[in-house]
Amino acid sequence: MSTKIGVYVCHCGTNISGKVNVTEVTEFAKKLPGVAIAREYKFMCSDPGQILIEDDIKNLGLDRIVVASCSPLMHEPTFRGACERANVNRYLFQMANIREHCSWVTVDPNAATEKAKALLAGAVAKAGTLQSLPHKTVPVNPATLVVGAGIAGIQAALDIADSGRTVYLVEKQPSIGGHMALFDKTFPTLDCAACILTPKMVQVGKHSNIKLMTSSEVEKVEGFVGNFRVKVRHNATYVDHIKCTGCGLCWESCPARMIPAARVIRKGKLVIGRSKEAMEGLEGGNGFHKSLTQ
Ligand SMILES: Cc1cc2nc3c(=O)[nH]c(=O)nc-3n(C[C@H](O)[C@H](O)[C@H](O)COP(=O)(O)OP(=O)(O)OC[C@H]3O[C@@H](n4cnc5c(N)ncnc54)[C@H](O)[C@@H]3O)c2cc1C
Ligand code: SF4
Ligand code: SF4
Repeated sequence: MSTKIGVYVCHCGTNISGKVNVTEVTEFAKKLPGVAIAREYKFMCSDPGQILIEDDIKNLGLDRIVVASCSPLMHEPTFRGACERANVNRYLFQMANIREHCSWVTVDPNAATEKAKALLAGAVAKAGTLQSLPHKTVPVNPATLVVGAGIAGIQAALDIADSGRTVYLVEKQPSIGGHMALFDKTFPTLDCAACILTPKMVQVGKHSNIKLMTSSEVEKVEGFVGNFRVKVRHNATYVDHIKCTGCGLCWESCPARMIPAARVIRKGKLVIGRSKEAMEGLEGGNGFHKSLTQ
């Protein structure tokens, strides 16, 4: 099926036309296969710019539209809207970025003009292959998974939970807090790290929208945006978290207590085994440090 492509090359004031020879690019576009009309315009995203496209679709029977202007992040929805208003499916629109990818990133007008032509030729070729797509509405599960309960994960979980969404917060360590739980003060303000972190840790534990999963890791993720299925492995802790009151009695005789804290290991002085000195160090501080440096 032959296509009737309309091409519109934007000046963006002088943002594009200051480097790219827009007239030359427009003339180049007129000769590309499938192109029925090519125009240049000062500001394509303005109302008159959009009306130009809509009128051409209606008057010339265009069935594909290409705009050479800025990033699709900025104005793809704008031009898709113009197409739809003139009864052309929104997915029959193609954009070429001759601003961020071209005029803004060179000082050489000739190079900019040649690159603009190449980008436009690619966009026109692609436009010829585009197909109409229908819009489909599907149910979305708004529950959110946050992996890692350091300060970033904690804050993200709280923000999302406060907005009314369910959050699954997965932390591989037995406790949340991450690096910040190991600091005394935070640079550069020298604020007390625990004073900032611990209230948030408590909020996470109490928040009715947050399902906290410690000693856990994501094993498998399936699905797609709005409908993910995630398998989380909960590592054995040998504690019934429903019944545990946090009284701490088990800690008194816990063998893991004799392993140096992560904080000490990160200082670079690792003790292998469970020496008497190391155990003393864990109780005392100075004694432990001495044993580490021997
Ligand atoms: C020595 C040191 C000093 C620092 N000092 C400062 C400072 O003074 N001021 C400052 O602003 N910043 C400082 N930083 C940086 C600061 O620690 C970090 O920016 C901040 O703590 C990072 O928080 P986070 O939540 O992104 O990551 P982290 O605190 O690293 O938390 C990540 C969490 O994710 C968990 N996790 C990792 N992988 C998985 C997984 N696969 N599944 C589940 N959970 C997982 C971890 O166990 C951890 O709890 C310092 C960093 C270091 C290392
Ligand atoms: S469409 Fe993009 S490049 Fe053209 S005037 Fe608007 S912002 Fe500038
Ligand atoms: S002894 Fe206390 S802290 Fe340890 S598991 Fe039992 S209730 Fe929890």
